[in-house]
Amino acid sequence: MIASSELIAELKQRRACRVTLQAPEGLKRRLSELAGDLRSAGFTVLVSGDPCYGACDLDLELLRDTDVLIHLGHAPVDSTDRVIYDIFRMDFDPTVVLEAVPFFTTRRVGLVTTVQHVHLIPAVSCILEEAGITVTVAEGTDRTPYPGQILGCSFEAARRTGASEILYLGTGVFHPLGVQIATGARVIACDPYTKTIEEINGERLLRRRHALIEKAKQAEEIGILVSPKSGQARRDLAAELASLSPKATLIQLREVTADQLLNLGLPCYVNTACPRLAYDDQVRWPVPVLTPQEFEILCGVRKFEEYEVDEIR
Ligand code: SF4
Repeated sequence: MIASSELIAELKQRRACRVTLQAPEGLKRRLSELAGDLRSAGFTVLVSGDPCYGACDLDLELLRDTDVLIHLGHAPVDSTDRVIYDIFRMDFDPTVVLEAVPFFTTRRVGLVTTVQHVHLIPAVSCILEEAGITVTVAEGTDRTPYPGQILGCSFEAARRTGASEILYLGTGVFHPLGVQIATGARVIACDPYTKTIEEINGERLLRRRHALIEKAKQAEEIGILVSPKSGQARRDLAAELASLSPKATLIQLREVTADQLLNLGLPCYVNTACPRLAYDDQVRWPVPVLTPQEFEILCGVRKFEEYEVDEIR
């Protein structure tokens, strides 16, 4: 992370006086120390205590009352010039990728990872090249600015490799599953901490999603959820989806929780907020929560064979 002294220099250069601090849940405890450093340097500091899951959820309300927002833990997903992003880097031994080499069936692979590890991409690429593997790392995009970076809502860096085999470096199965469905490539996931290597197959997820669409067909009413969050608000998409069915009602919801969905009382929802909510959290929801593409399948304007993973572009 950027040292407090560097942040102070940057704030002085921007002639800022009042500063908002924001961090995701896992980094919130670091905010009070940073707030103390900034106060000692003469700044007025406000900490955003609300939940935050990504740079898609900037506290713009607090930013209105201050000069600059310092957002810890994430890279920008859109351009907002009064925001300083301080990404959180997580290291691992890059030679761990040698364990993945026997899993490849080709000598040319694409390489992707999440923002915490993008700084290790050059070292990892070098190690793979020395092992005889040609590595393709795609340039960043507006939403994923670092080469090789993917998000749970953007797999463009994987698609742009054009590779038939892709190595995902990182923890969890959600990102590599997204890469597999978005690209159709063979995806090898390497968890650098547990040193687990596995081939990821999206078939099971797709079967579950198919069953969910069938269940949702019984619903007499459908809520189309729209987020007011800065990098998740897909209002045009939500309006387009609502026009596909007389059963659909547009609902703005800041935090999607099981209680909120129960209170609203509808038998089915379509999520246009963070795509992970529909995929990752389905077990928490009391009723089916479809992605926009799944709702199009339900409405008959898309075939299941044309399934696409939901992304924010
Ligand atoms: Fe992450 Fe979801 Fe925000 Fe995308 S929309 S950056 S996946 S929290």
